[in-house]
Amino acid sequence: MDFNLSGFSINNQPKEERHVKVLILGSGPAGFSAALYTARGNLEPVVLTGIELGGQVSLTYTVENYPGFPDGVGGQQLVELFQKQAERFGARVEFDTATSVDLSKRPFTVSAENAVYYADTLIIATGATPIHLNIPGEVELTGRGVSYCATCDGWFFKDKNVVVVGGGDSALEESLFLTRYAKSITIVHRRDELRAGAILQRRAFAEPKISFIWNSVITEILGTDKVEAVRLKDVVTGSVRDQKADGVFIFIGHHPNTQLFAEQLELDERGYLKTDVLMHTNIAGVFVAGEAGDPNYRQVVTSAGMGAAAAMQAIRFLEANVEE
Ligand SMILES: Cc1cc2nc3c(=O)[nH]c(=O)nc-3n(C[C@H](O)[C@H](O)[C@H](O)COP(=O)(O)OP(=O)(O)OC[C@H]3O[C@@H](n4cnc5c(N)ncnc54)[C@H](O)[C@@H]3O)c2cc1C
Repeated sequence: MDFNLSGFSINNQPKEERHVKVLILGSGPAGFSAALYTARGNLEPVVLTGIELGGQVSLTYTVENYPGFPDGVGGQQLVELFQKQAERFGARVEFDTATSVDLSKRPFTVSAENAVYYADTLIIATGATPIHLNIPGEVELTGRGVSYCATCDGWFFKDKNVVVVGGGDSALEESLFLTRYAKSITIVHRRDELRAGAILQRRAFAEPKISFIWNSVITEILGTDKVEAVRLKDVVTGSVRDQKADGVFIFIGHHPNTQLFAEQLELDERGYLKTDVLMHTNIAGVFVAGEAGDPNYRQVVTSAGMGAAAAMQAIRFLEANVEE
């Protein structure tokens, strides 16, 4: 089978080739946690960071629900600590991105932009990407009122007025969660009916803190240091108005970063890698950790936990299958 593994770098030089016992794709909580455990197992893991060093958590200002930090910890700071701890035990971090893989035989071949790796085991921790609105103000105010995670950030919006974007199950689930904190939750939906399941809809309609703005989209998020308002456009009448808001929660879906493996590993209907409690994929020696295989929890602590579990399985796999 030809998986189009390029042996040449972008400037057409032959790529360096390296044999590694453990290759970890991704530098989020799952990847660094897997790196820590396999490094402590003396396996000298190599971590390919991908384009987002630290993963999604590096985008957030403060993390208050990761154990061990009673006063919270900056997203960037947490990632730096993860990296430092893994490197202390011998993990090697490469600023590189996997571009193609051949999992048909061991060692597995992973071609990245700068090198080709032959890996006795592979831990996939490529995470997921929340779908963005791609409107002015969104990137600038992420972590300053714009959020993609109510469980993570709801606490910051005690007695505040927030806007939620979306009409599916997660938009309603997260809105109901936000009622614990926020004074009001206004759900902005571009159609005049919700996609979410009937039970969730009933609960949301019955909740006095939740109201709806139908047939509308947000065209801009306004604010200098923090979110102050959203610009709303009625898609039926075309009218535009600004509405004050302290926060904007965007729940229009997540893309797991798994396209690279689609022809070789089993994915579920949403594109998440199929796994079991032991973090196996359908190919022995290839493990998944974190959001690439987890549509359910999507937290730093759970992703880090899965990274540790995948690493322990990789260590066991190597002990059973690869001779020194
Ligand atoms: C704005 C925001 C705030 C959040 N706040 C919190 C919070 O307060 N508390 C909490 O518990 N959770 C929070 N979350 C969720 C949390 O960040 C994620 O659950 C967690 O980061 C998932 O970890 P992960 O390691 O599975 O993947 P990710 O963090 O998604 O990391 C994926 C990694 O894979 C890399 N990668 C992708 N493709 C490739 C490739 N081809 N080759 C090599 N590397 C690749 C990326 O560069 C990245 O380093 C937040 C999420 C967001 C977006």
